[in-house]
Amino acid sequence: MSTIFKKIIDKEIPAQIIYETDKVLAFKDINPQAPVHVLIIPKKEIPSVREVDTSEDAGLMNELIAAANKIAKELGIFDSGFRLVFNAGKDGGQDVYHLHLHLLGGRKMTWPPG
Ligand code: AMP
Repeated sequence: MSTIFKKIIDKEIPAQIIYETDKVLAFKDINPQAPVHVLIIPKKEIPSVREVDTSEDAGLMNELIAAANKIAKELGIFDSGFRLVFNAGKDGGQDVYHLHLHLLGGRKMTWPPG
């Protein structure tokens, strides 16, 4: 089933897009939990990390992380550090079932997470 992120990919609804390739899209989270909060998603519709197929999606997952590093550098949080999060399923706190990597930074993160 398509999600709101698919509509963002298809440019049917607006988003603050900050990075785009043929396979990956990144945009600012609408409800930021840190000074920097960016969502990095594959254009391929994968519901969550639980559905990532080792062989087929290996390159794609690498692209998500490489994009996160690039964006962290561009937004000036690479050296100070940041957090990358995949929420998966109900107990993981996932609300949107289109795989997305949260890039959070610009403040000191706490542990354990909530
Ligand atoms: P998760 O809880 O891991 O599924 O994260 C979903 C994230 O998507 C939340 O942080 C939301 O604030 C964010 N979000 C939902 N709708 C939009 C939207 N239209 N544009 C940007 N971010 C959104």
